[in-house]
Amino acid sequence: MAYVITDKCLGEQYAQCVAACPVECIYPGDYKGEKFMVIDPELCINCGACMPQCPVLAIVENEDASPEWAAVNKAQAPAFKANAKVEPRPANDPPKKPEHKLQ
Ligand code: SF4
Repeated sequence: MAYVITDKCLGEQYAQCVAACPVECIYPGDYKGEKFMVIDPELCINCGACMPQCPVLAIVENEDASPEWAAVNKAQAPAFKANAKVEPRPANDPPKKPEHKLQ
């Protein structure tokens, strides 16, 4: 099992989770024209360190919690892995989309 980044990250890409990951398996990229992040299910060790870092609660703890986005994370991970790291947005930066609420 692996943690999964869901559509709440779409258009946000806070990237606060990246520094928390001990195996560096969270990658940035664009998905359908919007900024996004994915977790590489081949490398994730299910430690849970990333989850509390997300200001909009975009991370869920396994594939069963979001099969649709688990498939997206898995499919995009090989391509996103090659992307340059991004500068994290401040955790208190207001979400770009009004439906994404800061927690
Ligand atoms: Fe990285 Fe742990 Fe989050 Fe998996 S659960 S993406 S290993 S921080």
